[in-house]
Amino acid sequence: MALKGRNAVVTGSTSGIGLAYARALAAEGVNVVINGFGEAADIEKERAGIEKDFGVKCLYDGADMSKPEQITAMIVNAEKNLGSVDVLINNAGIQFVSPVEDFPPEKWEQIIAINLSSAFYGMRAAVPGMKARKWGRIINTASAHSLVASPFKSAYVSAKHGIAGLTKTVALETATFGVTVNCISPGYVWTPLVEKQIPDTMKARNMTKEQVMNDVLLAAQPTKQFVTVEQVAALAVFLCSDAASQITGANISMDGGWTAA
Ligand code: NAD
Repeated sequence: MALKGRNAVVTGSTSGIGLAYARALAAEGVNVVINGFGEAADIEKERAGIEKDFGVKCLYDGADMSKPEQITAMIVNAEKNLGSVDVLINNAGIQFVSPVEDFPPEKWEQIIAINLSSAFYGMRAAVPGMKARKWGRIINTASAHSLVASPFKSAYVSAKHGIAGLTKTVALETATFGVTVNCISPGYVWTPLVEKQIPDTMKARNMTKEQVMNDVLLAAQPTKQFVTVEQVAALAVFLCSDAASQITGANISMDGGWTAA
């Protein structure tokens, strides 16, 4: 069945990759719940823009992805307001860069909560409806850091390796129910998340901005180009299609060759 008329929840979709997922799904006729932080007026502009541009319903839920009860309520409300959650994209994520000995414990806890545990709580709430309806698509935004590490990113790399394992586990549990669970592992995508970590990396490595861009970020990416948010979103739309119904439990890289090296 085509995607048109399905309902999706995309976490962390007020910015960057998440916003691109929401707009790409809406372009296929999918109603979407967007989520994330930001200025109320900016969020409302994005929400109304999606409805206007694509003629779908777009709701905003401000659930904090570090709060399990808010995540559950977001799924329950989406099921109530849209009728179902057919597509769940767990995408919210933050970054913090520091040597392990200085890594603030509260940052560790926050990154594990937002980048890993939120996907567990979201899936836990959404899977029963998907299994009952015998159709569902779950996509977790992992990262090249689900496969390889970089120094100073202990919490992020741990969370991303964790989400890759969580993806495989839930894929096995839902395999006979028409539900697929996959993760997308981008390399460096040019978004506010990448832009914001440049000052910390400059400090941690004692480098200029240009050195961080060329010698740290794009150094890992053989194509020497950033991935675009539209490219990541197009892969998610494909994973939601019937053509992708036999792709489950996969960790699909889109990293300009980074993890091939
Ligand atoms: P971004 O900073 O542009 O967007 C992050 C989104 O998450 C925003 O909408 C923000 O409001 C939301 N968010 C943050 N904390 C939240 C919370 N507690 N509750 C609800 N929402 C919250 O970042 P991005 O680059 O688009 O990253 C999106 C995902 O992609 C993340 O999981 C990130 O780890 C992953 N990723 C990014 C890159 C990259 O290079 N940008 C590469 C690989 C993976």
